[in-house]
Amino acid sequence: MVLETGYYDLLGVSPKASPEELKKAYRKLALKYHPDKNPNEGDKFKTISQAYEVLSDPKKRDLYDQGGEQAIKEGGVGGGNNPMDIFNMFFGGGGRMQRERRGKNVVHQLAVTLEEMYNGSTRKLGLQKNFICEKCDGYGGKKGALEKCSSCKGRGVQIKVQQIGPGMIQQIQSMCAECQGQGEKFSSKDRCKTCNGHKVERKKKVLEVHIDKGMKDGQRITFHGEGDQEPGLEPGDVIIVLDQKDHEVFHRQEDDLTMKLELKLVEALCGFKKTIETLDNRTLVITSQPGEVIKHNDVKYIQNEGMPIYKDPYEKGQLIVRFQVEFPEKQWLPEHLMFQLERLLPPREDVMLTDDMEEVDLCEVELGSNQKQYSREAYEEDDEGPRGGVQCQTQ
Ligand SMILES: [Zn+2]
Ligand SMILES: [Zn+2]
Repeated sequence: MVLETGYYDLLGVSPKASPEELKKAYRKLALKYHPDKNPNEGDKFKTISQAYEVLSDPKKRDLYDQGGEQAIKEGGVGGGNNPMDIFNMFFGGGGRMQRERRGKNVVHQLAVTLEEMYNGSTRKLGLQKNFICEKCDGYGGKKGALEKCSSCKGRGVQIKVQQIGPGMIQQIQSMCAECQGQGEKFSSKDRCKTCNGHKVERKKKVLEVHIDKGMKDGQRITFHGEGDQEPGLEPGDVIIVLDQKDHEVFHRQEDDLTMKLELKLVEALCGFKKTIETLDNRTLVITSQPGEVIKHNDVKYIQNEGMPIYKDPYEKGQLIVRFQVEFPEKQWLPEHLMFQLERLLPPREDVMLTDDMEEVDLCEVELGSNQKQYSREAYEEDDEGPRGGVQCQTQ
């Protein structure tokens, strides 16, 4: 039991979440709420990054589970880092040195099926990005025609004076909108018509993303220098992060695949032949011989039918099969045939009844209603209890 679940709730995972589940949850939310994509949700980005910072560290997670947010604050071990640093550490973004000479890296998430990761695939991803204007070479207008901005007199900033109370004024300095803070601008006749003086144009670029066999959830594919172009800056990278979709049948655990296979009771006891459709559309046949008994939740594996190993795709992991034995419904066999069945099954153990034993009823448990029934009984046994109120609850 954990003391509070606030950090887990922020990431949308259960307190039992594995480190992988935490990573995946943070990845999704951090990309969704990153200030680049969602500038109005800055606080959300900060809080999920702080929650992840604590939960991703086993020691801090222990401390949180036992003492909650209070313990984290008192221990002085959480929330200190800049959320952007946590993000960059996670996605491998550039450090500060790099950022000064280079444009920003852009991170995109790409949803990928398990079939694509098994067979390999090429996906086309169209994205909007800034290109340096070809017409003016990123100059913004006619060469040599740049003139001092008249609005800000070349300072790049404008100062507004505002009266905030009787006899009190406030000076507000803001970037000059006329020249975008450059201090210089083109007159309308010299301004480049293609980019409207912005030096860059927003255009669509299609990237071909090669998903190799065996690539994993969260794996990054980097397109160097495909970030936004800006005059005088080396463009940053476009980083594609693979997000593996859930599969109806197979569940991936690193290079192994696991699946559940339902068996009828007769198959579990008397043998079976079953087929499994693989992720590359082959059909595997598995057999259990008569005499072999498969129990509910028994696990067996098939060699070399898991996921291909990344960069070594002829090698594969295992396919792990967990059997689910389906028992027949109530009254499936007329009572007069029961003894015939019983004769065939391993013998039962009889109980000798003695006087000091108590016979009690075995009741059906209805899922979900347990708790209510329990509390109702507790009230009814309490003589001083508020009878009227209880009757309302029980109708
Ligand atoms: Zn100006
Ligand atoms: Zn231009």
